Amino acid sequence: MTKQEQMDELRERLVAADITPELRKTAIQLVMGDGNLDAEVVFIGEAPGKNEDEQGIPFVGAAGKFLNEMLGVANMERSDVYITNIVKYRPPNNRDPLPDEKKAFWPYLLKQLQIIKPKVVVTLGRHSMEYFLPGMYISKIHGEPKRIKFGDDTIIIVPLYHPAAALYNGSLRETLLDDFGRIPEILKKI
Ligand code: URA
Repeated sequence: MTKQEQMDELRERLVAADITPELRKTAIQLVMGDGNLDAEVVFIGEAPGKNEDEQGIPFVGAAGKFLNEMLGVANMERSDVYITNIVKYRPPNNRDPLPDEKKAFWPYLLKQLQIIKPKVVVTLGRHSMEYFLPGMYISKIHGEPKRIKFGDDTIIIVPLYHPAAALYNGSLRETLLDDFGRIPEILKKI
């Protein structure tokens, strides 16, 4: 099976699965992910918002615009990378995803990574970071590459702040832009 076929099959399984029933009921659609299945870098956010739920594509609202701008800083385009979220249905009123909701989607996220096989996973915000780097604080380790075991392999996790958190906070915005600018250097060193 090609990577696309594997991802399509995973999507179908996820749509059919009876997980997060509250979110399934209130969301318009599942937002699986967007981008290049041969990407070296995968970005993982929190959950779809209103625009993402309407369009079925992650990071297309205000946070997405900022993410696109930052990709430019790192000399990358959306078509070079793959973008997804830990939770794939929009939580009502954009509330934070609940621990059980993140847990329910986690095996599917891992499967997505097994299909794509990226070199680097960039977590955006604490909701996706806490699964890869449990017990760590984003304020202490943002921008620092961490190598973790992934199946029989290892993978580099780069924990970053969430772009939405930086939208209206000038200093966080600078921090995030600086951290983003380091991604090409991290990739080169692998
Ligand atoms: N915020 C996220 O975490 N993910 C999206 O897809 C959009 C906004």
